[in-house]
Amino acid sequence: MAPKHDYYDTLGVPRKATADEIRKSYRKLARKHHPDLNPGDKSAEERFKNVQEAYDILSDPKKRQMYDQYGFYSESGFPGAGPGGPAGQSPHPGMDFGGFDFSDFAAEARQGAHKTETGGGFRDIFSQFFGGKGGAAQQAEPEKGSDLEYVMDIDFWQAIQGTQTRLNITRYEVCETCHGSGSTGAGEVTCPQCKGTGNVTQMAGAMRFNLTCPRCGGSGRLRNACPTCGGDGRVTRTETVDVRIPPGARNGSRLRVAGKGNAGTMGAPPGDLYITTKVEEHPFYHREGDDIEIKVPIAVWEAALGSKIEVPTIDGRTQLKIPQGTHTGQRFRLREKGVLNSRTNQRGDQIVEVAIQAPEPRDERTREILKELRALHPEDPRQDIWSKVEH
Ligand SMILES: [Zn+2]
Ligand SMILES: [Zn+2]
Repeated sequence: MAPKHDYYDTLGVPRKATADEIRKSYRKLARKHHPDLNPGDKSAEERFKNVQEAYDILSDPKKRQMYDQYGFYSESGFPGAGPGGPAGQSPHPGMDFGGFDFSDFAAEARQGAHKTETGGGFRDIFSQFFGGKGGAAQQAEPEKGSDLEYVMDIDFWQAIQGTQTRLNITRYEVCETCHGSGSTGAGEVTCPQCKGTGNVTQMAGAMRFNLTCPRCGGSGRLRNACPTCGGDGRVTRTETVDVRIPPGARNGSRLRVAGKGNAGTMGAPPGDLYITTKVEEHPFYHREGDDIEIKVPIAVWEAALGSKIEVPTIDGRTQLKIPQGTHTGQRFRLREKGVLNSRTNQRGDQIVEVAIQAPEPRDERTREILKELRALHPEDPRQDIWSKVEH
């Protein structure tokens, strides 16, 4: 059985036609058969419609792919009269697909060999249609609870010293009425999966499927369902969780609180709670992992003569020895004055970068001294550069 219209024939293009060829041919034919140019010509009107339909499918890569693969395209599911395989071969009587033979698709889908864009969808659909194993209707299965992610803003000191805080976490918890089973043995509630309609919609590529709700079997009601959770076995609750951020937390550190994610369904284990720390920058201390970097100014004489200066650390002031003849940009390492890493139990270092600050010669005496210094040191401080850049 051939499809009603071969879209490629309708547009007069080969099956390998490019999008451009398809568009050109469509324009030509649409002009030719346009009803305004063929008043009263019923067959022209029919041809015009066919050209429109063919172009609608072949100009859309997704629709075209489906048409190429299956010989038809349908937005609302499988059509009543598709290009049929032998009818009655379906291993699943009771489902009317208008004579279209799905068994090949189903086999492919089960093997996971279906690698087209719509593959995943087909697999889902078919496992639901055919029950995956043995054709039994699919039952809702226990599912592990999902993980929760929270971002926590902390300042520089909280990150270094560690901190304790309480977070309000909204999560699914096991329903206390039914202890997670979802049923209590009496009464009826609206099915939470289909919201009482008895149908659920699933997408497979561009196709929408209306399926009978697997939860309630299409009745829209759940018998014996727990009235507290509507049969889900879980309820939403906001809970206060005590969170301890260990000392040395970095920006982007991820902390796992086991079992504090969403509860699983039907007694399945809960997910975990993950807390990512976002550490605020300090205006002076800059963290580089477990090391702390700071920039400090030094006076000309401190740099030239050498000196002991005081620099800030996260423990308070400490002494730093500046050797004679220090230059701007030189870095000094203060061992184990950085951040304590709670995992290794070791501290990083503090790196001090110095910058020489010139005195401002506001008075005559200072100017005189500097001029004297110039006379004593006539050498060019840029001398080294010339040998590097000129040749
Ligand atoms: Zn319940
Ligand atoms: Zn339902």
